[in-house]
Amino acid sequence: MAQDEYIFIVRCGEVALKGMNKPYFERMLLERIKKLLKKFDGVRAYRHEGLIYVRAEKVPGGEGQASADPAAMKARKEAIIREIGKVFGVASISPAMECESTMEDIGRTAVEYMMEAIEERGVKTFKVEAKRADKNFPVKSPDIARQIGAAVLKGCKVLRVDVHDPDVRLFVDVRHDKSYVYQDKIPGFGGLPLGTNGKGMTLLSGGIDSPVSTWMMAKRGMLIEAVHFHSYPYTSQRAREKVEELASLVATYCGRFRMHVINLLPIQEQIVTNCPEEETTILVRRFMMRIAEELAKANGCNMLITGENLGQVASQTAEALVVTDASVQMPVMRPLIGMDKVDIMDLAQEIGTYEKSIEPYEDCCTVFLPKHPSTKPRLERILESEAKLDCEQLIKDAIASEEIVNILPHRD
Ligand code: ATP
Ligand code: MG
Repeated sequence: MAQDEYIFIVRCGEVALKGMNKPYFERMLLERIKKLLKKFDGVRAYRHEGLIYVRAEKVPGGEGQASADPAAMKARKEAIIREIGKVFGVASISPAMECESTMEDIGRTAVEYMMEAIEERGVKTFKVEAKRADKNFPVKSPDIARQIGAAVLKGCKVLRVDVHDPDVRLFVDVRHDKSYVYQDKIPGFGGLPLGTNGKGMTLLSGGIDSPVSTWMMAKRGMLIEAVHFHSYPYTSQRAREKVEELASLVATYCGRFRMHVINLLPIQEQIVTNCPEEETTILVRRFMMRIAEELAKANGCNMLITGENLGQVASQTAEALVVTDASVQMPVMRPLIGMDKVDIMDLAQEIGTYEKSIEPYEDCCTVFLPKHPSTKPRLERILESEAKLDCEQLIKDAIASEEIVNILPHRD
């Protein structure tokens, strides 16, 4: 029985632990999966008995498989898996084969599954594990495993059983109406479905850290809106484009979002002209935070998000962070605060932002960089310096000159 659809079993990780809220989280998760799979023809997703199923016609449009290009079919299957894997809240994905819940049909399907594994990957050993969600099913799980194992041995003469280190661990999942045979559990990122945890205004630079911090908060279900600061013409148009490209990589996870683009140069010039040089960085950072907070309030965000990381640079010492924090009332999320740089870089690689982040373009923070930035700023001194500036007006003007860019998910 050749199957004309790919079937993917999608497991919700933490979502399943949410007690009373469980149906809500599952619905949100299904919505996200549906949304991300819209770009594929002939794909549908639905919920059934606590799992999410995705079905995809092997050849969209229902044309015969005989004439189909196997490479194209494989690419389509992999693209669908990749897309599901990007949905926050997905714990794992298993490409599966479906059959009737009878020992006979399960056995036949298991043989078909293993035949493919032998052909494609030269598999030699296997082991069957079984579970039954349907407790009325007449055969108990260990017996299902034994009997299906025997059926596979009979159907695939080249295979041997290896219970300790098999090439294929074949899972048999007996459910009420249908049963499923699968091997891999491809891990997802886990987390919670987008839209289940408020909205954050993320401060997005072109660096390595802020795309990762944005991704981490989105992974906890937070919707994203962004602000980016530049110092045009000291920072180039190309640097700005790089940030938009980086943002669109992040959007492949968190969906399309708005990015407020603000020219910080007039503020930087005022600071450089009127305040002590070693305070430049911290003063600029406090302005960034206040502008971000204004934008956050105006756009329904609950918190700010930055890529700051304790001790990484002069502006991220404990003292500097305290002074930065004192500029705003809104909670500031710093999901990278305790991570080591190498771990942040690894995560950036994993989510696919690293290569773009290391492209060498200037950032507004590097314009007017003081020779000896103060690493232990004192709030009273900083407030004295700010008293020399018309902060409110500067912030108003900066916001008045904003441009809003719609960031769409990057398409590969
Ligand atoms: P990143 O790699 O995210 O740029 P960083 O290690 O370079 O971080 P800083 O330049 O001190 O550190 O910036 C700390 C945080 O401030 C960033 O993670 C980001 O959230 C925010 N930030 C810095 N520059 C900008 C910018 N030009 N626009 C928006 N936010 C910025
Ligand atoms: Mg930076």
